[in-house]
Amino acid sequence: MKKMMKKVVVILSMAMLVCGLAACGGDSAKNSDTITFGTNAEFPPFEFVASNGVIGQYDGIDMSIAKQIAEKNGMTAEIENMEFDSLLIALENGQIDAVIAGMTVTDERKEEADFSTPYYEATQVMIVKEDSDIKKASDMAGKRICVIQGYTGETCVNDMGYSYEAFKKGTEAVMELVNGKCDVVVIDSATAKKYVSDNEGLKIVEDPAAFEGEQYAIAVKKGNTELLDKINKVIEEMLADGTISDLAVKYSEAE
Ligand code: GLN
Repeated sequence: MKKMMKKVVVILSMAMLVCGLAACGGDSAKNSDTITFGTNAEFPPFEFVASNGVIGQYDGIDMSIAKQIAEKNGMTAEIENMEFDSLLIALENGQIDAVIAGMTVTDERKEEADFSTPYYEATQVMIVKEDSDIKKASDMAGKRICVIQGYTGETCVNDMGYSYEAFKKGTEAVMELVNGKCDVVVIDSATAKKYVSDNEGLKIVEDPAAFEGEQYAIAVKKGNTELLDKINKVIEEMLADGTISDLAVKYSEAE
């Protein structure tokens, strides 16, 4: 028995040594030439999969911003695509260095991560069928509401006290609406516009009195001021010289 334990200890310490030397597992995000950005590439026009994206197969406003942040700091951007709900956990674990995912800054999230200077203003809107009688948020009472799991849209609908069905992807929720299985999808404004232009028979209903403005920002692990400074420097430049608004126009009009 003792012999066996010894063997296990030896194997374990060898594995730790190899990991330490090769910077494997959780340390992969610490490569000093690379910024590993986590995203959920299901959120056009900010991030989506394309045959020829700005970073490998990933394209969109956020992906272009990520690329410039890395390049202007003499580094390379890498993307890890994962579920939206996993992003802040992956950041905490060190699997990724930063989150760029059209992520709205909220008080809750600020407890888990530090956020950059905001780079985009958004709001939640309602996508409905063209003939829908929903004209304001309170008209959702008694309707079949679809949201996307973990998005701020889910929080809004939940806070309004309505029951809803949560989907993993925006496209799935929109398909439910198109197929008449739900009456309204609550989602971020620019993404809603994209879905409405991609699908016939849908329209957007806004209710600024019911949905507060939101700001998107990049998240880093709490206390990672070194990376946050690098990110903020580039974001502030891109805001000042109009690059971000140009990207927003370009990707909203694309296709
Ligand atoms: N802005 C929303 C949020 O932060 C949705 C973001 C996203 O789906 N990528 O929850």
